[in-house]
Amino acid sequence: MATIGFIGLGNMGGPMAANLVKSQHQVTGYDVVTAPVGNLEQQGGKPAATVAEAAAAGDIVITMLPAGPQVRQVYLGPDGIIAKAKKGALLIDCSTIDVETARAVAAAAAEAGLQMLDAPVSGGVMGAQGGTLTFMVGGSEAAFRKGRPILENMGRTIVHAGPSGNGQIAKICNNMILACSMIATCEGFALAEKLGLPVQTLFDICSTSTSQNWAMNNYCPMPGPVPAAPSNRGYAAGFTAANMLKDLRLSQQAAGTAAAATPLGAAAANLYQLFVDGGNGALDFSGIMQMIRRQQE
Ligand code: NAD
Repeated sequence: MATIGFIGLGNMGGPMAANLVKSQHQVTGYDVVTAPVGNLEQQGGKPAATVAEAAAAGDIVITMLPAGPQVRQVYLGPDGIIAKAKKGALLIDCSTIDVETARAVAAAAAEAGLQMLDAPVSGGVMGAQGGTLTFMVGGSEAAFRKGRPILENMGRTIVHAGPSGNGQIAKICNNMILACSMIATCEGFALAEKLGLPVQTLFDICSTSTSQNWAMNNYCPMPGPVPAAPSNRGYAAGFTAANMLKDLRLSQQAAGTAAAATPLGAAAANLYQLFVDGGNGALDFSGIMQMIRRQQE
Protein backbone atom coordinates (compact mmCIF):
# COMPACT_ATOMS: atom_id res chain seq x y z
CA MET A 1 0.00 0.00 0.00
CA ALA A 2 1.24 3.49 -0.88
CA THR A 3 0.19 6.85 0.51
CA ILE A 4 -0.94 9.06 -2.37
CA GLY A 5 -1.91 12.74 -2.61
CA PHE A 6 -4.26 13.31 -5.57
CA ILE A 7 -4.99 16.85 -6.82
CA GLY A 8 -7.64 17.49 -9.51
CA LEU A 9 -10.63 15.18 -9.05
CA GLY A 10 -12.58 16.04 -12.22
CA ASN A 11 -13.99 13.80 -14.96
CA MET A 12 -10.70 11.93 -15.27
CA GLY A 13 -9.02 12.45 -11.88
CA GLY A 14 -12.12 11.42 -9.87
CA PRO A 15 -12.35 7.87 -11.24
CA MET A 16 -8.54 7.50 -11.36
CA ALA A 17 -8.30 8.33 -7.64
CA ALA A 18 -11.21 5.95 -6.94
CA ASN A 19 -9.29 3.13 -8.67
CA LEU A 20 -6.29 3.81 -6.44
CA VAL A 21 -8.55 3.52 -3.38
CA LYS A 22 -9.90 0.21 -4.77
CA SER A 23 -6.31 -0.99 -5.08
CA GLN A 24 -5.97 -0.48 -1.29
CA HIS A 25 -3.85 2.69 -1.40
CA GLN A 26 -4.41 5.49 1.10
CA VAL A 27 -5.50 8.40 -1.10
CA THR A 28 -5.80 12.00 0.13
CA GLY A 29 -7.61 14.13 -2.44
CA TYR A 30 -7.96 17.84 -3.14
CA ASP A 31 -9.87 19.87 -5.72
CA VAL A 32 -10.81 23.56 -5.84
CA VAL A 33 -14.41 22.36 -6.12
CA THR A 34 -15.58 20.61 -2.95
CA ALA A 35 -18.13 18.10 -4.35
CA PRO A 36 -15.58 15.72 -5.93
CA VAL A 37 -13.56 15.73 -2.69
CA GLY A 38 -16.72 14.53 -0.89
CA ASN A 39 -17.22 11.84 -3.56
CA LEU A 40 -13.70 10.53 -3.00
CA GLU A 41 -14.27 10.48 0.76
CA GLN A 42 -17.46 8.41 0.27
CA GLN A 43 -15.41 5.91 -1.70
CA GLY A 44 -12.83 5.52 1.07
CA GLY A 45 -10.37 8.34 0.37
CA LYS A 46 -9.40 11.18 2.72
CA PRO A 47 -10.28 14.85 2.08
CA ALA A 48 -7.65 17.59 2.02
CA ALA A 49 -8.48 21.29 2.38
CA THR A 50 -5.49 22.62 0.43
CA VAL A 51 -2.93 21.63 -2.21
CA ALA A 52 -0.28 21.72 0.52
CA GLU A 53 -2.20 19.24 2.70
CA ALA A 54 -2.66 16.74 -0.17
CA ALA A 55 0.96 17.18 -1.27
CA ALA A 56 2.32 16.49 2.23
CA ALA A 57 0.13 13.40 2.64
CA GLY A 58 1.73 11.14 0.04
CA ASP A 59 4.89 9.29 -0.87
CA ILE A 60 3.44 9.78 -4.34
CA VAL A 61 1.62 12.95 -5.48
CA ILE A 62 -0.55 12.76 -8.62
CA THR A 63 -2.19 15.66 -10.45
CA MET A 64 -4.92 15.65 -13.13
CA LEU A 65 -5.55 19.31 -13.98
CA PRO A 66 -7.04 21.17 -16.96
CA ALA A 67 -3.93 22.76 -18.54
CA GLY A 68 -0.43 24.22 -18.15
CA PRO A 69 -1.34 27.34 -16.11
CA GLN A 70 -3.07 25.24 -13.41
CA VAL A 71 -0.10 22.85 -13.32
CA ARG A 72 2.34 25.74 -12.77
CA GLN A 73 0.04 27.19 -10.10
CA VAL A 74 -0.31 23.92 -8.18
CA TYR A 75 3.34 22.80 -8.36
CA LEU A 76 5.26 26.08 -8.00
CA GLY A 77 5.17 28.76 -5.31
CA PRO A 78 5.49 28.70 -1.52
CA ASP A 79 2.36 26.57 -0.91
CA GLY A 80 2.73 24.40 -4.01
CA ILE A 81 3.45 20.69 -4.31
CA ILE A 82 7.20 21.06 -4.78
CA ALA A 83 7.53 23.14 -1.60
CA LYS A 84 5.25 20.92 0.48
CA ALA A 85 5.91 17.35 -0.74
CA LYS A 86 7.66 14.84 1.53
CA LYS A 87 11.39 14.33 1.04
CA GLY A 88 11.85 11.61 -1.58
CA ALA A 89 8.25 11.81 -2.87
CA LEU A 90 7.57 10.98 -6.51
CA LEU A 91 5.43 13.55 -8.40
CA ILE A 92 3.31 12.42 -11.36
CA ASP A 93 1.41 14.90 -13.56
CA CYS A 94 -1.20 13.15 -15.72
CA SER A 95 -2.69 16.36 -17.22
CA THR A 96 -2.28 17.08 -20.94
CA ILE A 97 -0.15 20.24 -21.05
CA ASP A 98 2.50 22.00 -23.16
CA VAL A 99 5.93 20.41 -23.34
CA GLU A 100 7.64 23.57 -22.07
CA THR A 101 5.63 23.64 -18.82
CA ALA A 102 6.14 19.89 -18.29
CA ARG A 103 9.92 20.33 -18.58
CA ALA A 104 10.03 23.53 -16.48
CA VAL A 105 8.07 21.99 -13.61
CA ALA A 106 10.14 18.76 -13.72
CA ALA A 107 13.32 20.89 -13.58
CA ALA A 108 11.99 22.79 -10.55
CA ALA A 109 11.17 19.46 -8.87
CA ALA A 110 14.68 18.13 -9.61
CA GLU A 111 16.18 21.28 -8.12
CA ALA A 112 14.26 20.52 -4.91
CA GLY A 113 15.53 16.92 -4.94
CA LEU A 114 12.21 15.42 -6.10
CA GLN A 115 11.61 13.00 -8.98
CA MET A 116 8.85 13.82 -11.43
CA LEU A 117 7.06 12.10 -14.31
CA ASP A 118 4.81 13.61 -16.99
CA ALA A 119 2.25 10.89 -17.67
CA PRO A 120 -0.60 12.09 -19.90
CA VAL A 121 -3.25 9.54 -20.79
CA SER A 122 -5.41 8.36 -23.61
CA GLY A 123 -8.60 6.38 -23.16
CA GLY A 124 -10.99 9.09 -21.95
CA VAL A 125 -13.46 8.96 -19.08
CA MET A 126 -14.41 5.34 -19.80
CA GLY A 127 -10.74 4.34 -19.64
CA ALA A 128 -10.37 6.26 -16.36
CA GLN A 129 -13.42 4.52 -14.89
CA GLY A 130 -12.43 1.07 -16.11
CA GLY A 131 -8.75 1.39 -15.17
CA THR A 132 -7.78 0.78 -18.80
CA LEU A 133 -5.96 4.04 -19.63
CA THR A 134 -2.78 4.23 -21.70
CA PHE A 135 -0.05 6.28 -19.97
CA MET A 136 2.71 7.94 -22.05
CA VAL A 137 5.44 8.66 -19.57
CA GLY A 138 8.37 11.08 -19.59
CA GLY A 139 11.05 11.10 -16.88
CA SER A 140 14.08 9.19 -15.64
CA GLU A 141 14.28 5.39 -15.76
CA ALA A 142 14.41 5.27 -11.93
CA ALA A 143 11.30 7.47 -11.54
CA PHE A 144 9.48 5.37 -14.15
CA ARG A 145 10.30 2.12 -12.30
CA LYS A 146 8.92 3.63 -9.09
CA GLY A 147 5.76 5.08 -10.70
CA ARG A 148 4.85 2.18 -12.95
CA PRO A 149 3.14 -0.05 -10.32
CA ILE A 150 0.92 2.87 -9.28
CA LEU A 151 0.01 3.74 -12.87
CA GLU A 152 -0.86 0.06 -13.41
CA ASN A 153 -3.71 0.50 -10.91
CA MET A 154 -5.27 3.07 -13.28
CA GLY A 155 -4.24 1.84 -16.72
CA ARG A 156 -3.56 -1.13 -18.91
CA THR A 157 -0.69 0.14 -21.08
CA ILE A 158 2.20 2.07 -19.55
CA VAL A 159 4.89 3.24 -21.99
CA HIS A 160 8.15 4.95 -21.06
CA ALA A 161 8.69 7.54 -23.82
CA GLY A 162 12.05 8.90 -22.57
CA PRO A 163 13.09 11.96 -20.53
CA SER A 164 10.83 14.69 -19.08
CA GLY A 165 8.35 16.14 -21.55
CA ASN A 166 8.45 13.13 -23.89
CA GLY A 167 5.12 11.82 -22.56
CA GLN A 168 3.49 15.13 -23.58
CA ILE A 169 5.19 14.99 -27.00
CA ALA A 170 3.76 11.51 -27.62
CA LYS A 171 0.29 12.64 -26.53
CA ILE A 172 0.06 15.74 -28.75
CA CYS A 173 1.54 13.97 -31.79
CA ASN A 174 -0.92 11.08 -31.33
CA ASN A 175 -3.87 13.47 -31.14
CA MET A 176 -2.70 15.57 -34.09
CA ILE A 177 -2.51 12.40 -36.21
CA LEU A 178 -5.93 11.33 -34.92
CA ALA A 179 -7.53 14.70 -35.77
CA CYS A 180 -6.09 14.65 -39.30
CA SER A 181 -7.25 11.07 -39.90
CA MET A 182 -10.71 11.90 -38.50
CA ILE A 183 -11.11 14.89 -40.85
CA ALA A 184 -9.81 12.90 -43.86
CA THR A 185 -12.29 10.12 -43.03
CA CYS A 186 -15.15 12.66 -42.79
CA GLU A 187 -14.23 14.18 -46.17
CA GLY A 188 -14.11 10.77 -47.84
CA PHE A 189 -17.52 9.73 -46.52
CA ALA A 190 -19.07 13.14 -47.35
CA LEU A 191 -17.71 13.01 -50.91
CA ALA A 192 -18.94 9.43 -51.45
CA GLU A 193 -22.38 10.47 -50.19
CA LYS A 194 -22.47 13.36 -52.70
CA LEU A 195 -21.43 11.06 -55.51
CA GLY A 196 -24.09 8.49 -54.61
CA LEU A 197 -22.03 5.63 -53.12
CA PRO A 198 -23.83 3.97 -50.15
CA VAL A 199 -22.13 4.50 -46.77
CA GLN A 200 -21.91 0.80 -45.97
CA THR A 201 -20.30 0.02 -49.34
CA LEU A 202 -17.61 2.66 -48.84
CA PHE A 203 -17.00 1.41 -45.29
CA ASP A 204 -16.74 -2.25 -46.33
CA ILE A 205 -14.18 -1.34 -48.99
CA CYS A 206 -12.11 1.33 -47.20
CA SER A 207 -12.04 -0.30 -43.75
CA THR A 208 -10.18 -3.23 -45.33
CA SER A 209 -8.17 -1.19 -47.86
CA THR A 210 -5.24 1.21 -47.72
CA SER A 211 -7.24 4.10 -46.20
CA GLN A 212 -8.22 2.10 -43.11
CA ASN A 213 -7.50 3.92 -39.83
CA TRP A 214 -8.74 3.92 -36.21
CA ALA A 215 -11.15 6.87 -36.73
CA MET A 216 -12.84 5.00 -39.57
CA ASN A 217 -12.70 1.40 -38.42
CA ASN A 218 -13.51 1.84 -34.71
CA TYR A 219 -15.14 5.25 -34.44
CA CYS A 220 -16.70 5.87 -37.86
CA PRO A 221 -17.94 9.52 -37.99
CA MET A 222 -20.67 8.68 -40.52
CA PRO A 223 -23.69 7.09 -38.77
CA GLY A 224 -24.30 3.45 -39.58
CA PRO A 225 -21.32 1.18 -40.06
CA VAL A 226 -19.89 1.13 -36.47
CA PRO A 227 -22.87 0.76 -34.08
CA ALA A 228 -20.94 1.73 -30.90
CA ALA A 229 -19.54 4.95 -32.41
CA PRO A 230 -20.73 8.38 -31.11
CA SER A 231 -22.11 9.11 -34.64
CA ASN A 232 -24.98 6.73 -33.78
CA ARG A 233 -25.96 8.60 -30.61
CA GLY A 234 -26.07 12.20 -31.82
CA TYR A 235 -22.31 12.62 -31.40
CA ALA A 236 -22.53 12.57 -27.60
CA ALA A 237 -18.93 12.60 -26.26
CA GLY A 238 -16.69 10.49 -25.95
CA PHE A 239 -13.76 12.79 -26.42
CA THR A 240 -15.05 16.32 -26.85
CA ALA A 241 -14.26 18.61 -29.78
CA ALA A 242 -13.13 21.24 -27.21
CA ASN A 243 -10.53 18.81 -25.80
CA MET A 244 -9.36 17.92 -29.32
CA LEU A 245 -8.98 21.63 -30.12
CA LYS A 246 -6.97 22.11 -26.92
CA ASP A 247 -4.58 19.29 -27.91
CA LEU A 248 -4.27 20.61 -31.48
CA ARG A 249 -3.34 24.04 -30.14
CA LEU A 250 -0.66 22.39 -27.99
CA SER A 251 0.67 20.57 -31.07
CA GLN A 252 0.80 23.85 -33.03
CA GLN A 253 2.51 25.64 -30.14
CA ALA A 254 5.14 22.85 -30.01
CA ALA A 255 5.54 22.90 -33.81
CA GLY A 256 6.17 26.66 -33.63
CA THR A 257 8.81 26.23 -30.93
CA ALA A 258 10.55 23.45 -32.87
CA ALA A 259 10.18 25.22 -36.28
CA ALA A 260 8.47 22.06 -37.57
CA ALA A 261 6.07 22.27 -40.54
CA THR A 262 2.71 20.65 -39.74
CA PRO A 263 0.39 22.05 -42.44
CA LEU A 264 -2.25 19.34 -41.99
CA GLY A 265 -2.12 19.77 -38.21
CA ALA A 266 -2.60 23.53 -38.69
CA ALA A 267 -5.56 22.95 -41.01
CA ALA A 268 -7.08 20.50 -38.51
CA ALA A 269 -6.68 23.08 -35.71
CA ASN A 270 -8.47 25.70 -37.87
CA LEU A 271 -11.33 23.33 -38.71
CA TYR A 272 -11.83 22.31 -35.05
CA GLN A 273 -11.71 26.01 -34.08
CA LEU A 274 -14.55 26.71 -36.54
CA PHE A 275 -16.51 23.73 -35.23
CA VAL A 276 -16.08 24.73 -31.59
CA ASP A 277 -16.86 28.41 -32.36
CA GLY A 278 -20.13 27.16 -33.87
CA GLY A 279 -21.18 26.04 -30.36
CA ASN A 280 -20.16 22.39 -30.73
CA GLY A 281 -17.37 22.16 -28.16
CA ALA A 282 -19.23 19.67 -25.98
CA LEU A 283 -19.96 17.29 -28.87
CA ASP A 284 -17.71 14.34 -29.63
CA PHE A 285 -14.80 15.25 -31.90
CA SER A 286 -16.20 12.95 -34.60
CA GLY A 287 -19.17 15.39 -34.77
CA ILE A 288 -17.06 17.51 -37.14
CA MET A 289 -18.63 15.18 -39.74
CA GLN A 290 -21.75 17.38 -39.53
CA MET A 291 -19.80 20.54 -40.42
CA ILE A 292 -17.97 18.84 -43.30
CA ARG A 293 -21.23 17.42 -44.69
CA ARG A 294 -22.79 20.91 -44.54
CA GLN A 295 -19.77 22.46 -46.28
CA GLN A 296 -20.35 20.08 -49.18
CA GLU A 297 -24.01 21.02 -49.58
P1 NAD B 1 -11.97 18.40 -15.60
O1 NAD B 1 -12.14 19.84 -15.88
O2 NAD B 1 -13.16 17.53 -15.47
O3 NAD B 1 -11.09 18.19 -14.26
C1 NAD B 1 -10.07 19.05 -13.85
C2 NAD B 1 -10.22 19.24 -12.34
O4 NAD B 1 -9.15 20.06 -11.85
C3 NAD B 1 -11.53 19.95 -11.96
O5 NAD B 1 -12.24 19.17 -11.01
C4 NAD B 1 -11.07 21.29 -11.40
O6 NAD B 1 -11.92 21.78 -10.38
C5 NAD B 1 -9.70 20.92 -10.87
N1 NAD B 1 -8.81 22.08 -10.70
C6 NAD B 1 -8.63 23.12 -11.54
N2 NAD B 1 -7.71 23.98 -11.02
C7 NAD B 1 -7.33 23.44 -9.83
C8 NAD B 1 -6.42 23.87 -8.83
N3 NAD B 1 -5.72 25.01 -8.96
N4 NAD B 1 -6.27 23.08 -7.74
C9 NAD B 1 -6.96 21.93 -7.61
N5 NAD B 1 -7.85 21.48 -8.52
C10 NAD B 1 -8.01 22.24 -9.62
O7 NAD B 1 -10.99 17.85 -16.76
P2 NAD B 1 -10.72 16.32 -17.16
O8 NAD B 1 -11.63 15.94 -18.26
O9 NAD B 1 -10.64 15.51 -15.91
O10 NAD B 1 -9.27 16.47 -17.81
C11 NAD B 1 -8.10 16.60 -17.02
C12 NAD B 1 -6.89 16.52 -17.94
O11 NAD B 1 -6.90 15.28 -18.65
C13 NAD B 1 -6.85 17.62 -19.01
O12 NAD B 1 -5.52 18.05 -19.17
C14 NAD B 1 -7.37 16.92 -20.26
O13 NAD B 1 -6.86 17.49 -21.46
C15 NAD B 1 -6.82 15.51 -20.04
N6 NAD B 1 -7.57 14.45 -20.73
C16 NAD B 1 -8.93 14.43 -20.69
C17 NAD B 1 -9.62 13.41 -21.34
C18 NAD B 1 -11.13 13.36 -21.32
O14 NAD B 1 -11.71 12.58 -22.10
N7 NAD B 1 -11.80 14.11 -20.46
C19 NAD B 1 -8.91 12.41 -22.04
C20 NAD B 1 -7.52 12.43 -22.02
C21 NAD B 1 -6.86 13.47 -21.36
